[in-house]
Amino acid sequence: MNREELKKILQSLNEEDYKNNVDLHIHTNESDGKMTPAELIKQVNTRALSFFSVTDHNTANAYYSSNILKEDTLITGIEFDCLYKANVIHILGYGIDTDNEDLKSLYSKNKIGSSLLIYRMLTLRNPEEVIEKIKLAGGIAVLAHPCCYWTLSLDEFVRDLVEMGLDGIEVYYKYKRLRKFVKFHKKTTVEKIADKYHLIKTGGTDSHGKKLL
Ligand SMILES: [Zn+2]
Ligand SMILES: [Zn+2]
Repeated sequence: MNREELKKILQSLNEEDYKNNVDLHIHTNESDGKMTPAELIKQVNTRALSFFSVTDHNTANAYYSSNILKEDTLITGIEFDCLYKANVIHILGYGIDTDNEDLKSLYSKNKIGSSLLIYRMLTLRNPEEVIEKIKLAGGIAVLAHPCCYWTLSLDEFVRDLVEMGLDGIEVYYKYKRLRKFVKFHKKTTVEKIADKYHLIKTGGTDSHGKKLL
């Protein structure tokens, strides 16, 4: 599917879908998750998810090491570590052509670069470049878990990313499940900002374990 088709699909999904049968934020053991891509495919099919996405950190290896690209409920994905306004932010790319050369230039060169946090902190990307390259690869750029970023004005924080071309924001996300995260903003704030800047609202479990959350 192309960018516009994907946009339409994402715009049609709502909070209930993300609660029950859509998960656009999942990690495998190609980054810092525990599931193999093959185990993930099994779980996705058992759950009968209508859409899912593998969003490993800085790598598309799950797409090469398994048959996952053949799943017709798959939306391709990736999650990049970026440095922005004194925060480490994560930018998700959806519907990307994983073979796109521009995008590939942002992939980590080795497994450490997608799994080991300390190493990942030393190799942060520029958000403007990430957004641009996700788009060059036919994808949609989405700000992940926005409640986690330290800023007095999340509105301004997001507005400047929108000026760089950001398409969406992760609204449906269960922060309580992830103890390592500190939450600075409310979900209602994020929803308001999404509406104000006409951003696509996405969601997912950010599962890292052996089982889908
Ligand atoms: Zn993240
Ligand atoms: Zn994640």
